[in-house]
Amino acid sequence: MSTCTVCRRATEADLHACPRHTADLRAWLTELPAQAKLLQQFLIPDTAPAQGRLGGTGRATAPIPVDLRVLTLIAPGHADPQGPDDDGTVPILAFLGAWAGHIAYTHPAVTRDPHGTAHVQPCEQAWPSHGETITGWCTWLTRYLPYALAHLWIGDLHRQLGDLIARIRDLTHDIPHRHYKAAPCPRCDTFDLVAIDGQTDITCQACGHQLGPDAYEQHAASYLQAHHTAA
Ligand SMILES: [Zn+2]
Ligand SMILES: [Zn+2]
Repeated sequence: MSTCTVCRRATEADLHACPRHTADLRAWLTELPAQAKLLQQFLIPDTAPAQGRLGGTGRATAPIPVDLRVLTLIAPGHADPQGPDDDGTVPILAFLGAWAGHIAYTHPAVTRDPHGTAHVQPCEQAWPSHGETITGWCTWLTRYLPYALAHLWIGDLHRQLGDLIARIRDLTHDIPHRHYKAAPCPRCDTFDLVAIDGQTDITCQACGHQLGPDAYEQHAASYLQAHHTAA
């Protein structure tokens, strides 16, 4: 029996994150590309309010002050070897790339030599199929999540990714809302099923169970019917 490195609850088999905290990671990796797009908007002058203090004759040419934290977050390239900024802001791309690199390095790759003998060695590099973009890395990390869950450092990823998302939401003011559903969770029976803005699946806050919208509608219909029959 293992325990969740975030909440210390017992988990299945050799996993180091419970279903609920695994659902957090999936949700954040889904949310991140959209949040990054919102950050980009800060850099497009046209999205700034049109009427300036200078009156109606053309646009004000004064540079638009951009929060330095925004520039740092959407900066391309690699993590600063000097470490993060004073306030702990790191470029999103570098953060994701570094975690993917770490995961790839611990992931055994099997190669065969010309004699057919298998050799197991660490992967040298992570190659996201959508390119080294924020979306590409988020897709890659989501795909490798089942592997990552079996490692103790999954707790570090959860903490760091949670911090990063909180930092970005603080700037974009875009906080995905949770909408509680009427039917209870089909797995644990608590009324903790929520739909989160921007996510297709419905997640149980108590046990982490996830189901698609169609599956939920079916479940809710049969729950309601059973309820009516009982009443
Ligand atoms: Zn947990
Ligand atoms: Zn549940």
